[in-house]
This record gives sequence, C-alpha cells and structure tokens, in this order.
Amino acid sequence: MVRQGAGLRLVKQANTSLIINVLKAQGPLSQAEISRITKLTKSTVSGIINELMSAGVIREAGVGTAGSSGGRRPTLLELNPEAFYVVGVDIGTTNIHAILTNLTGASLNEKAIPTLPRDGLDSLVRRTVELIKEIVQEPGIQMSELVGIGVAAAGLVDHKTGVVKYSPNFNWRNVPLKDLLENTIQVPVSVDNCTRVMARGEMWFGAAKTVSNLLYVNVGYGIGSALVIDKKVVQRDSEMGHIAVMEDGPVCGCGKAGCVEAISSGSAIEAKAREAVNQGRSSMMRDLCDGDPSRITAKIVADAARAGDITARRVMSDAGRYLGKAIAAAVNFFNPELVVIGGGVSLAGDIYLEPVLSGFRSYVMRDLYSDDKIVLSELGIRGGVLGGAGLILGEFSRLDAGGPPGRIEDVRSANSY
Ligand SMILES: [Zn+2]
Repeated sequence: MVRQGAGLRLVKQANTSLIINVLKAQGPLSQAEISRITKLTKSTVSGIINELMSAGVIREAGVGTAGSSGGRRPTLLELNPEAFYVVGVDIGTTNIHAILTNLTGASLNEKAIPTLPRDGLDSLVRRTVELIKEIVQEPGIQMSELVGIGVAAAGLVDHKTGVVKYSPNFNWRNVPLKDLLENTIQVPVSVDNCTRVMARGEMWFGAAKTVSNLLYVNVGYGIGSALVIDKKVVQRDSEMGHIAVMEDGPVCGCGKAGCVEAISSGSAIEAKAREAVNQGRSSMMRDLCDGDPSRITAKIVADAARAGDITARRVMSDAGRYLGKAIAAAVNFFNPELVVIGGGVSLAGDIYLEPVLSGFRSYVMRDLYSDDKIVLSELGIRGGVLGGAGLILGEFSRLDAGGPPGRIEDVRSANSY
C-alpha cells in the first residue's frame, strides 16, 4: 500500500469531495453559493476551502456580483485542473498504451509501446513503469503530482485487490498487478478488467456521459461486456460473449457451441472470411491480403465490405446480426438506457452497426426498441486509457462514473470531516 500525499487524503473526504464536485459542475462559485448548494454550514465550507486553497486544488477566479443588499463583491472560486494529474494505462496483448490527463480529463501526453508478452511479467511491469514515467516527465510534471494510475487489464480481475486472477491472453494466474506496479512506482494504482474500465471511459468521456444504466459491449478479438447500473460500474463478471445465439453453431473458446463470441467477434469475422476466400469465393479480400488468406484481418473484411465486396458484406452482416440478437437478449433482460459497442471491431463503423441494429430489431421486445438504443463508441482505441484515467478521477471525486454528485444526505452521512 502506498502512502498518499496530504492533498489527496484531503480531497477524498466526503464534504470536501462534495465541494469539489459542485465546483467542477457549476464553478466558479462564491463560498456563500457553495454553502447554499451543498447545504453545508458556512464555517464548514470556509474551513475546507482554506485547506483546498493551500493544497492548490482550488483557486480564485475573479469576483462575483454583490447580493441584493449590496456589500462587498464575493471572491469566486474554481477547481484548479492542474492541481493533480492522473495516468490511464491499457495493457493490451499488442500494445501498452498510456495517457496523462489533468483533473478535467484533458489529455496532456499519450504514448504506446509494444507489449512483448513473451518477455515475461517482470519485463512488462518494468516497461509499463518506464512508459508512465516518460509520459509524466516529458511535459515537465513531477511524479509526486500524480494522484493515481488506473490500469485496464484483460481477464478476470479483482478490482478491490488489483489481482489479475486469470488472463488467458498473458497466461497469468493470480498476478498481483496493483502491488507489482505500486511497489515499483510508489503511486497509488487501481486495476480493473479492461471492459469495465472501457465502460467507465464511456461514462466519463464518451457516449454515456448522461446515462445512468448502460450495457457496454467490447468487440475485439473476443467479446466482453460490462454493466453500469445507477451510474455504478457493476463489479461482477459479465460474459455476454457467451450468450448462445445459434443452435449447433461454431465451437467457442469456452468449449460450448453457438456463443455470440464464436460468431461476431473480430477473430470469428476473420475466420469466416478466411474460410470463404480459401473456398475460392471471389472477393477483393484476396488482393487485400496479398493472396495469403491467413493475413485477413477484421479491418480488411470491413474495408472490403465498405467497398461493396459481396463476400465481405455477407461476413460482416452475419456477424452483426447475431450480435444484435445477443444484445436483444440482454436488453430484454435489464433494459439499459443505452448500449455502447466499443473495441477494435467497432472501428468498422456502420458496416457493422447496421446489421447489429437489424438483428436487434428482429429479436428485442417491441416496446424496448428504439433507433438510438445502440451506438458505436467514439473513443476508438483510446477507450481503455481514457477509462483508466476515469477510474482514478472517479475515486478522486467519489463519483463512480461521472455525472452530478449523489444525494447530499448520502455524502453528509459519510461525513468524515
Ligand atoms: Zn462461449
């Protein structure tokens, strides 16, 4: 466990977080306005403000207008976005990607390096730490100004302990990733499953900023999912990829048959396209892979489909329709306000989304259908790193997933000030 600086401990306290959130959402404000909005007494507000000012977390922002009774014009206060910084890290099978943001989530630096999983865990931890130091120090920021590092990792992750219980991609079992990173870098680290982290990215920075209930579907090499209920990312394994959608369908990595992951994921799309080209079906994909079908990627399939290639269109359309069917099952089950599809395959765009919507429309209960229920993530490959930053920003401001603070009574009942 890493000791946190006095500034960070301070902002983690309930009333302090409440004031920070109000300033973030509605600032600049005077002390009297903060007191009115938070329902905290003026002396409580004043005490907290003094501490936050000396810690550099808030700053003066000019003067407001005098009240109706006249008198001195009040000093306005605002959050200082450069008071602390956070880092988001996405440890993928191919790349380790890291981003440095300020407290508003604005990106200050960003870089990716190859993961090289074969070099082993020690090397991966060491290179991740080097990458973090590099993106922090390049713009002239001290490591001591970091409030935390949020890490997205594939596989079964215990968010509380930061242990990766199982990651088939890296062949990891019970890897204490949080402790390994913290011990090397001496900054608080938070680790979670990459799909849950990406869902958080959507809540903070993406399509789900105003949404309370979300189904996030991560379509990459496999298919992962995460649920957000009442603005909280549900800390349970959500395996929508293994909803069975086809009787006697292709065998899935999980050992069962007909799972949507075996039909609609990036690897399933590639397998289906390779099979079609190997069978001699005429397709521009043959040229796009230089005559070697084993080099067909989901991106090649999407490019060919977009260019009108019938075989590629068929592959994308089948994949999309079955994902729509699985999403319909999930929506019938808990009816989120929004479904966001992210991950590598979402970069295919409308060529993938249209058949998803068509499959969804066919299988969802009519009253639960709407045209704008399912959208593609706009965060692209940055979903994981932005979500990692959101993981820390959420802990920092005690908001699980962005949006306005919870009921004031709830926060005050947790009063530790
Ligand atoms: Zn399966």
